[in-house]
Parts: sequence; structure tokens; C-alpha cells
Amino acid sequence: MGIIKKLKKPSFWAKAGAALCAAALLVIPSDGVISKNAYGSASMDDLQAQIDKIKKENADRRDQIDKLGDDIANNEAAIDIVNAQIDGVNSEITKYGQLIIAKQDSIDAKKLEIAAVEEQIADKEKTIEAKKNDISEMQAENKRNLQKFAKLASALYKTDPSGTLPVLNGSRDWYNYYVYSDVVKNISSQNLSFMKALMASIEEQEKMISDLNAEINGLEEDKAALKKQKETLEEEMAALEGERTGLESYASEQKSYLSGLAANNETLKDKVDGLEYDIAVSNNKLDELDKELQELIRRAQENGSGSDVAYTDGFRWPLAPQFHNITTYFGYDAWRNGNHGGIDIIGYGVPVGNAQIHTVQSGRVIKVSNTCSHDYGKYYSCGCGGGWGNYVVVDHGGGLSTLYAHCRAIYVSEGQYVTKGDVIGLVGCTGWSTGDHLHFEVREDGYRVDPFKYTYQDVY
Ligand SMILES: [Zn+2]
Ligand SMILES: [Zn+2]
Repeated sequence: MGIIKKLKKPSFWAKAGAALCAAALLVIPSDGVISKNAYGSASMDDLQAQIDKIKKENADRRDQIDKLGDDIANNEAAIDIVNAQIDGVNSEITKYGQLIIAKQDSIDAKKLEIAAVEEQIADKEKTIEAKKNDISEMQAENKRNLQKFAKLASALYKTDPSGTLPVLNGSRDWYNYYVYSDVVKNISSQNLSFMKALMASIEEQEKMISDLNAEINGLEEDKAALKKQKETLEEEMAALEGERTGLESYASEQKSYLSGLAANNETLKDKVDGLEYDIAVSNNKLDELDKELQELIRRAQENGSGSDVAYTDGFRWPLAPQFHNITTYFGYDAWRNGNHGGIDIIGYGVPVGNAQIHTVQSGRVIKVSNTCSHDYGKYYSCGCGGGWGNYVVVDHGGGLSTLYAHCRAIYVSEGQYVTKGDVIGLVGCTGWSTGDHLHFEVREDGYRVDPFKYTYQDVY
């Protein structure tokens, strides 16, 4: 600040002209080489424009983050739905698995039954084979016995008193003939009972064979029925396994869809992180620019502010009494994603547009910016007056100054002396303003402080 202090105070603002331009801040050092000021940048307006641009970029980034947040929320909702579907499908799969296990148990039981039946059948078949062997042995023996019997009968026939002889073809015919004819009377009872026992044994074996065959048929029917049951169970099991396979492939499709959604979400979150990082970097830049701007304003005020303080009372309210509603206070403001350097004032149930702006204390006008024609509500900065639109800065001496922004009209010019309460302009909506209001700042040595430190709504 030593360099600028060398300039003669009264002539500084006259030289600076309508805007504090870069040229006004150029100084000639002792070595005679022209260089920029220590802060390397141009005018306050340029700095404010840069600040507004970065704020606008950050606001755009916030919008993008909000949109990405919506996308992420939608994705997460989709993930929840798919997860619920997968849970449902998995419980179906578990249910099918249990049904399949139950079917498999039934099939295993049927298999055991079938095996038991087959074993029974095999036993029966063995028994049948054994019986058949017995029968053929018995029949062979019987044949031999019948032949013996026939020889015996022939011998007896020679002494037959009846003189009749049937035409006989085999041993069994001989047997029947002798059993049922009178000749039998002549057969010894020993021989006859032997023959009878032999034949009874044959009959018995044949009956047994027939019974065993019937039993075998029954068992074969049982076996066929069991096999049929087993086939039905196997078909049911195959159907269940088919359904389970279908569900498993659906679940795996859903899982890959899910991992796609999750990957997409990661990408979106990475984008958000990237934007947050950009915002953090921009905010750092913003802080630097803001400090630079504050320093320029402070230096301007330091050079413009008279050492004499021409007043002894405090500051009045900058508007008429009905305009006392504060929409934004001094300090951090989330909507702006940064600090609010003053207070925003509107009417309480009364439109504030065109309301007269009064200088809160006597002093000298050290800055007027009156180039903005964009006097309407907007959610962006037209860039005029570095976002303040049309504004006035009044220096009150003793390091104190006040700023009145977004004016519709300005009635004072730079260098003009004003008295406390003088109307210096009208409330409007120029610069970065969403609606008619007065943005009012108080500065100590160029540093913004809470205006309520100096003035209140009920002070005029
Ligand atoms: Zn403008
Ligand atoms: Zn404001």
C-alpha cells in the first residue's frame, strides 16, 4: 500500500475516471520500468466479473451435481428393486431346491421299493427254477416208475379174468387204466399206494409251479407299477429342475444387470467427485480473487477517504421505514455457495422497486458504476458492475464506506459530496439480482463487515 499512498489523494479518483481501470493502478517504480500493481490483475470490475463467472460456473456445477444426484438416486432405487427381485427369485430357487430334494427322496424311496420287488422277483424266479428242476427230476423218476408199473401191469394182464384189454399208448394210460378198472383189485396195495404217492407228488409239484408262476406275474405287475411311479416322480423332478434352472438364469441375468447399475453408479459418483473437486479448486481461486478485490477496494478507499470525519452521529437506515425486510443477511449463504458481503433489503408487504436510496451518512461519492441496462429479475449475472449492476460507493471518512447495489437509477457522480439522508438513487434489479432489492454493504478500511454493526431498521 506504500506505493499507491505516494499518489496525491485528491487527484486519484479524478484520474481514475468512470471506472477504476488497470491503467490507473500502474505505477512507475524507482527503476523506471513500468509494471502492473502488486496483485497482477486489472480493475475491481474485472475482478468482480471474474468472481461472478467462477460463481456462475460453480452454480452450474452444483446443478450438474444435483442432476447426477437424481441419476444416482434413480440408479439406487433401481438397484433396490433388482435386489428385491433377486431375493424373491433366490427364495423361489430355495423353494424349488427343497421340492426337488423332496422329489428326490420319493424317487429314492421308490427305487428302494423297486429294488426290493426286483429282489423278491429274483428270489421267486430262483425258487421257480429250483421247483422246475425238482419237477423235471420227479417227472423223469415218475416216467421210469410208470414204465416199471406198465411192465407189472402187463404181467398182471395175462391173468386178467375179464379178457378185455384197452388200446393203451403210454405209461400214464396204463396207470389210469389200472387205477380205474377192476384190474386194480389184482394189483398189490403196496404197488398201488407207491404209484399214487408218486402221482400225487407230481400233481403237487405242478400246482406249486402254477402258484409260483401266478406269484411271479403278480410281482411283475407290482414291479411295473413301481417303475411307472418312479418315472412319474422323475418327470416331476425334471420339471422342477427345469424351473429352478430358469430361475437361476433369471437371477444371474438380474445380478449382471445389477452389477451394471452399480458400475454406472460408481461412474456417476466419480463425476460428482470430479465436480466437487473443481468446485473446491474454484472456491480457492474465488477466495484469492475476493481478497484481491477487497484489497483493491481497500486501497481505493484508503486513498479516497479523507482523514477528517465530518459527522458525530451514527448511520441511518438506507431506505424509508416500510422497507425493512431482510431477505439475506451478512455472512455465509448456501444459495450463493459462499459469503454474502452485505444485507439484501426489500419492503414488508410493499414493493421496494423505485424506492429512494438514502446515503446512510455524509461523505464523498468515490465510485459510481452505471452501465447496466438489464433491470429485471434473473438467475445469472449479466456481468455488469461485477454482478452488482449499477452501484454507488460513498466514503464517510475514518476508513468507513458504504455500497448500494442493483440500482435502477443513480443521482450522484464520483467526487460529489453528499449529506446524510440525501437520495443517491432508486432501488432496482440491475446486475445479478432475481428481484428488486437493495444490496447494502458497510466497509471498514475496505473490508466488508456486518451492516448491523452500524445501522438498524428503526434509525433514520
Ligand atoms: Zn447488466
Ligand atoms: Zn446482496
